[in-house]
Formats: sequence, structure tokens, C-alpha cells
Amino acid sequence: MKKLLSMLCAFVLSTCFFLGTTDITSYAANKNYVVVIDPGHGGVGDRNLGAIYNGYMEKELTLQVAVAMKAELEKYEGVTVYLTRTADEIKSLESRADFAKSVNADFVFSIHFNASSEHIYYGSEIWTSAFGNYYQKGQTFGLIESDQLASLGLYQKGVKTKIGSSGNDYYGIIRHCVARGIPCDIIEHCYLDHAYDVQYLKGQDFIQTLGIADATAVAKYFKLKSSVNGNDFSNITYKTVKKPSGKVWQDTTDPDTCSIKVLAYDSASRNALVEMTTKDSQSPIIYFAYSYDGGKTFSPLQMWDRTQKTQSFNVNIPSSFTSSNIVCRAYNNYELFKQSNEVAIETR
Ligand SMILES: [Zn+2]
Repeated sequence: MKKLLSMLCAFVLSTCFFLGTTDITSYAANKNYVVVIDPGHGGVGDRNLGAIYNGYMEKELTLQVAVAMKAELEKYEGVTVYLTRTADEIKSLESRADFAKSVNADFVFSIHFNASSEHIYYGSEIWTSAFGNYYQKGQTFGLIESDQLASLGLYQKGVKTKIGSSGNDYYGIIRHCVARGIPCDIIEHCYLDHAYDVQYLKGQDFIQTLGIADATAVAKYFKLKSSVNGNDFSNITYKTVKKPSGKVWQDTTDPDTCSIKVLAYDSASRNALVEMTTKDSQSPIIYFAYSYDGGKTFSPLQMWDRTQKTQSFNVNIPSSFTSSNIVCRAYNNYELFKQSNEVAIETR
């Protein structure tokens, strides 16, 4: 009964989120849209460089993606595309938003690449405004963009909001665009400091591919048509998000629960079959990690099937361990984790 009730709640919730009536499905032909693409960072000094890892410089990649995105988007009819910068130069976030306002932009797409101080995360994440129509449009585009990036193989961390201590959107480019009446999403394509994502970056023409994916998402969102590449999204339907009544706050709490059981141990392969159950009522669980040394060291983050509450996996215990203390962690998409109970097993 409890399970049925929670399933019903989940259904009602998702219905509210995705099937709400909106004014943004009215994008149609015969209107000209103005799209501003913002290649993040640029110039020298501190934050202007962006992330630099594994020979990749964020400020260079953002411009390359933006140029490819513009070229692809210009194959569509009914859209005018601008870049906030075309050279390796310093541009303040305010001046980027001012420029978007001056050309009467319908949307600003800010192009970025990610890195974390822990160097453990991978995948794409999209940031949008926490407020009203800006959230509605930003979240709706973000879901389309996330699907597009997922189709390239990139792991998806989701479309998120973040409110700063001032009570406004935390990220400057979003805050400055919203202050000027323009919706804005930040697209963090992937992590420059994680091998899982770098393997994609090393792929031939991957930067070009990202630009095309971004442009295709924009074309879908505005329901554009291209006689050049033969795409016609004028009749496309997509999930539209309901306008929220208040601010959409970020999740600031760890997952609710995380518990493990060791189902079996195979002494030949030295694999322990671990079953983990985890739940976060606010955000999806997206990664998990395991430890066989009582939490002193953890595995790289593994992908968690976010449609499941319970999953099992093998933990391989090194032959030097005569006993093992297994403990796991579940991470939500705000990178907050809950540590499980510890299970001791004999492995000799
Ligand atoms: Zn950046």
C-alpha cells in the first residue's frame, strides 16, 4: 500500500512538472528569434581562463563550441545568432548581458566546461534561473539539451537551480540576463578533469559535435526548420515545465537513506555481491561509490540507475585483505552524499 501510494505520488508529481499548460509551446514559424551564444571566460587572469586540465583550456573550448553552434544554428530559418565574444578577450558578465539586451535576445546560452576540486565528478549539467518564467523556459530548454547531450554518450547530472546568499540566482550570467528580462541557461558540457569525460573530448570532431548538439537543442526548443540540413522541428512536441509559484531552491540536504547488505561472497573471484538501497525525496541519486577498507578509500564514482531504489553490484576485494569492511555512499545530483552502514566479511 505504501509503495502504491508513493508510486501514485510520483506519478502525480511528474504529471504536474511535465504536463502543465504553458505559454511557451506557442513558438511558431514566421517569427524571427534572436539567440545569443555566450562562450564562457576569455582573456587572461584568474576566472577569465576558466578550467585548465589535461591540456584543455575551457576558454578555448567554449569559443570553439560556440562558433560551431552558431554555424549550425544559422542553417535554420527564422533565427538570428550572435556571440558575446569572438576573440580571446575579457568580457564582464554584465557586458555580456548588456549585449544580449541590445540585440533584443530571446535567450542566452552560456557555454562552459566543468571541473571540480575533488576531480571525481563527470557528466553534463545545466544551470537555470530559479524564478518564474525564466525557470519555466530554462528548465524546458535544459531537458531538451540534456537529451541531446545524452545521445552523445555523456552522463547527465540534470537541470538545476542555485540561489546565492542574496536570494537571487547564484550564477552571474543567469542573474544579469534575468535582470534584463532574458532567460539564460549555462551549459556545462562535461568535465575537463575526469578521464571518463576526457575520453569523449579526445574523440575526433567532438567539439564540433557538441556545437551541433547545442544548436539542434535550440532549434527543437524554438521549433525551427532548416531546408539546408533537412531538419524540420516545427511540429515537435516536448515536455514543458510548469511555471513555479515561488523560487525553486537547490537541494541542500544529503540523500535521505543509504543502506547496504552483502548478499554473497565468492572466494574464488574475491567478489562480494552488495545490494544497496538509497532514496532522496528531493533530488535524483546519480552516483554511488564503494569502499572495502571501512571507508578509508572509495572507488571512483559509479553510475546509479536513477529509476531504481535498489541495485546490486560486485565489490572486488584485493587478495591482501583477510577481512573486509564494506561501506558505500550514494550521491544526489547536487553532489551531496549519504554513507551507508558498514558490513564486515571474512575473505580468507
Ligand atoms: Zn566555466
